[in-house]
Amino acid sequence: MGLVLLLDMDYFFAACEELRHPELKQKAFVVGTASTEKKERGVVQTSNYLARSFKIKSAMPVAMAMKLKPDLVYLPSDEKFYEEESSKIVKLLESYHLEMEVMSIDEMALDTGDADYKKAMALAEGIKSRISSEVGLPCTIGISTSKIYAKMVCDAFKPNKIGMVRKEELLGFLADKDVDSISGVGGKTKERMNRIGIYKIPDIAKCPPLVLRENFGRFGPELYKIARGEDESGVEEGAPAISIGRETTMERDTGDMKKISKLVEELAKETIEELKNRNMWYRAVSGKVRYSDFSFRTKTRRLPNYTDSYDAAFGTCVALIEDLLDGKTARKVGIRLSELEPKKGQTTIKF
Ligand SMILES: [Mg+2]
Repeated sequence: MGLVLLLDMDYFFAACEELRHPELKQKAFVVGTASTEKKERGVVQTSNYLARSFKIKSAMPVAMAMKLKPDLVYLPSDEKFYEEESSKIVKLLESYHLEMEVMSIDEMALDTGDADYKKAMALAEGIKSRISSEVGLPCTIGISTSKIYAKMVCDAFKPNKIGMVRKEELLGFLADKDVDSISGVGGKTKERMNRIGIYKIPDIAKCPPLVLRENFGRFGPELYKIARGEDESGVEEGAPAISIGRETTMERDTGDMKKISKLVEELAKETIEELKNRNMWYRAVSGKVRYSDFSFRTKTRRLPNYTDSYDAAFGTCVALIEDLLDGKTARKVGIRLSELEPKKGQTTIKF
């Protein structure tokens, strides 16, 4: 394994919108999850640079963002367009013939093979300038010895830069980082860590591995390695491709599964239609719920085989959402299909 180069598009959805509506650059705007008519009930997915200067952030309710900036421009999310832009970037990266992992719609990791630091940096500069001139979008690139570190470097250097942390610089780089700057350490794990006195990454390195295993299971030893600069996570080619999905904000918050099923039916139909248009199979289904208190959860189930079945998508998603709701009420539900495969050349179809 060589050095890992991790590329993350800057404020991706908003940048895509600026690309096709350059006049928007002069205005504060957000891309949100709800239709324009129901925007007050939606949540900010991405805000552009100007909106950020008014303290508008992603995951903030649109209603709150409008209070911060009353003439804020609102755009409903157009994931199809963003996915088209994303596939241009993936194509461009493919031309380098390196091992690549598409981690999400706006994040890709490359294994730079036998390149040394100098060559990896030159490679990153080339990629960044090509994405800027050929696609027209800004990005940040992190380079380091593993995928996890490359991601952290990328986060630390955002936006619109290239950052590199060499092996001998890793411990210094990690020294002042909070535990949740490690990808995979979310709110719950962070709370758990804080409870046993772990706040910064070096605190993990000082913690006995046994205690880490007791508290964080299989993730424990991994955390230990990460904190000591010994992580070796690499680029996994063929990892989940870009997913497709739909979501909708409801007229009124509800926990009524009959009403929710009706909506999911609609969403699943549209999603399967798009899947078929793209001539693809899926293997994993996710149900997504945004609760009345705006907190958000998603749950994913992997099916035994690749399929393009509507029934499997609908049935699985409804079951997952019912599970997630567990008596609570939702303001928004969604479906997502992932582990996509092109139909051409697929030979393992059982459905
Ligand atoms: Mg991004």
